[in-house]
Amino acid sequence: MKRFNIAALAGDGIGPEVMREALGVLRVAEGKFDFKLEVTEGAVGWAGIDADGKALPDDTLALCKKSDAILFGSVGLPERDPTVPKEERPERAALLRIRKEFGLFANLRPVKLPAALAHACPLAKERQGGGIDILVVRELTGGMYFGQPKKTEDLGSGNVRAIDTMVYTSLEIERIARVAFHAAKLRRRKVTSIDKANVLENGVLWRETVSRVGRSHPDVALEHQFVDNAAMQLVLRPGQYDVMLCENMFGDILSDEAAALGGSLGMLPSASLGAGRGENVFGFYEPAGGSAPDIAGKNLANPIAQILSAALMLRYSFGLNAAAAAIEDAVQRAIEAGLRTGDIFNPAETGARKVGTSEMGAAICAEMVR
Ligand code: NAD
Repeated sequence: MKRFNIAALAGDGIGPEVMREALGVLRVAEGKFDFKLEVTEGAVGWAGIDADGKALPDDTLALCKKSDAILFGSVGLPERDPTVPKEERPERAALLRIRKEFGLFANLRPVKLPAALAHACPLAKERQGGGIDILVVRELTGGMYFGQPKKTEDLGSGNVRAIDTMVYTSLEIERIARVAFHAAKLRRRKVTSIDKANVLENGVLWRETVSRVGRSHPDVALEHQFVDNAAMQLVLRPGQYDVMLCENMFGDILSDEAAALGGSLGMLPSASLGAGRGENVFGFYEPAGGSAPDIAGKNLANPIAQILSAALMLRYSFGLNAAAAAIEDAVQRAIEAGLRTGDIFNPAETGARKVGTSEMGAAICAEMVR
């Protein structure tokens, strides 16, 4: 039997509520499939500061280091964040620190709009093409956000110049491209690579390098698009995309645009992957949304983003594709059965029933064993 150690860091706000449901679903998956998870919980965010004086306590970091993957809730509380210096605030001190510590260079954001939630999507139904199912793969550690020189300088006479530099090496592009092709093989086998090769040197290198990696994956269709066209195509014909491969800044923008098509932040999981460790890939899995303090502690949060993050962990870190698909199917069936947390509820929808966090989690567990 395969065994894995995971660090479960629920964090703040709705984190503990949605984490509870995700761990419940993982227990059901263990019972159905041949694997065992050793789950150890750790404090992070304000929960870490309150328990141990730091947003990422040393014990929590040590726990992460000896784990095979991190399942993360969310951190930060807007009314408390400004009470400590910026570098000690949860998002910076915990999230950014973990990204750096574990070399997480690939960010995967799947956006899936089930046909039953067509009403929650800003696009007209005929544009949705029977449901949207896109995976945005974003490079996370290079490009314009980190390239040097990066500075602001006074040119005198009231004129100021700001410089950011876009830098990529072919090795950085190759490793993110391999993640995209690998992910496409678990989906519909198509990669659309996004660049600005008509204007940027980086774009030319990006296109050449991705094409070269693509030649090693002849079973995956590869298409190239300029980023400005992609921004438009995403809202005109989202059904054309399977995997969208983007450099850091283009991915930042396009993954949010794609996320808007998914209906609610409460439905959107994400994965950040580091380098492989033998057969396994170390990964950090979290919902796309934050700690949602407006609804925390009220059994109102949608646990689906956290549950789907757990499914991504099974697929991308542990290679448990059948178990991951079973969780995703169970979520789909709960939605088709009409269950809706407040964020995806529309009173005009016939057959829809408003439920709380725990009821949604229990319904997904029940669908797993049906
Ligand atoms: P947010 O994502 O927490 O909330 C935005 C809106 O989305 C709110 O109305 C919220 O109720 C709703 N929402 C989010 N997740 C939901 C869910 N699962 N179910 C139903 N509704 C959901 O963003 P915010 O309000 O800007 O930030 C709140 C705190 O979270 C801040 O301290 C911020 O810094 C932090 N934050 C953390 C992360 C992270 O941990 N990765 C990400 C974003 C924001």
